[in-house]
Amino acid sequence: NSFLLPARAATRARFSFEVFPARSGAAALALGHAVQHLSAADPDFISVTYGANGSNRDASLDLVAYLRDHTDALPLAHLTTVGETHEAVRAAIHAIMDAGVHDFLALRGDPPRGLDEGDARVAGSMSSWELVRLISEARAERPPLTSVGRTAVAAYPNGHPLSRSRSEDVDWLVAKQEAGANLAITQLFFRAEEYLSFVEEARAAGLTIPVLPGLMPVSTSAQLRKVASLAGRPAPAELTRALDAEGGYAPELGVEHTVSLARELLDGGAPSVHLYTFNRHEQVLAVLRELGLLTPDPV
Ligand code: FAD
Repeated sequence: NSFLLPARAATRARFSFEVFPARSGAAALALGHAVQHLSAADPDFISVTYGANGSNRDASLDLVAYLRDHTDALPLAHLTTVGETHEAVRAAIHAIMDAGVHDFLALRGDPPRGLDEGDARVAGSMSSWELVRLISEARAERPPLTSVGRTAVAAYPNGHPLSRSRSEDVDWLVAKQEAGANLAITQLFFRAEEYLSFVEEARAAGLTIPVLPGLMPVSTSAQLRKVASLAGRPAPAELTRALDAEGGYAPELGVEHTVSLARELLDGGAPSVHLYTFNRHEQVLAVLRELGLLTPDPV
């Protein structure tokens, strides 16, 4: 029955990961170990955050280059415009492309520490769809030699704090597609319905690009609170209670919740899952193993 295998493999859902630059030497060693395991799982890509929570932007470029040079995974570089001049953003795009990486997640970015949305440097930043356009221009000047040249953008199933309605988020996402984006990755959320209804509305408004649901298996109550603040919705009461009952630390509960959410999403038509790893491989690989997505089943 071995001739059946390729067909089964082709219908298997895919997955990708997100990591962030390490903030200390010890964390960098641990991350080097984690990305080897993540890469061995054969993801579609591993994305690297940029300047999030005040992290060092050069460290982000270093990690992208590390993934390219020392793993088999395709790196996808997040890039933000907030507080940057047009020239500085162009230079960052070129530096990433010169490092042999042509896949991006184009973002406006969160306001740097100490600034808020009202600050002129934040409000006057280049928008994410302008960044999408700039990446396409740079790509036309430097055709990709090794990678496929994805331009991903962010999507917000529960709304971005700046938006006043879901239709504004949908219209904004469609505008990013029109500017040249060919993939969307969502902000974290807890309930499948939030993603599925958002995608349905976006499709009705003309969105055709794949929308990858962003999922994070949490280990601690503190991580759960962080996800809730990003998701813009309270965490499921059952999960909060169960984590608290374990003293605030229970990685297996995060895995369990993510597996059941991912099943609902894939059954509902999600093309793949994008897993926020928190720079650890154990939990996300446990999720994929449980979903049967890790390796072909031994015959
Ligand atoms: P945009 O897509 O430009 O805007 C977000 C929303 O704001 C829109 O959906 C729209 O509703 C509204 N909006 C904005 N401008 C207008 C307008 N002119 N008119 C009407 N509505 C408007 N941040 C980092 O700093 N580094 C990272 O590496 C990073 N990675 C991320 C990865 C993912 C998958 C996600 C979802 C977010 C990430 N972020 C990161 C956070 C992101 O930068 C912030 O959410 C930021 O506030 C918005 O950036 P954006 O590109 O999504 O914005």
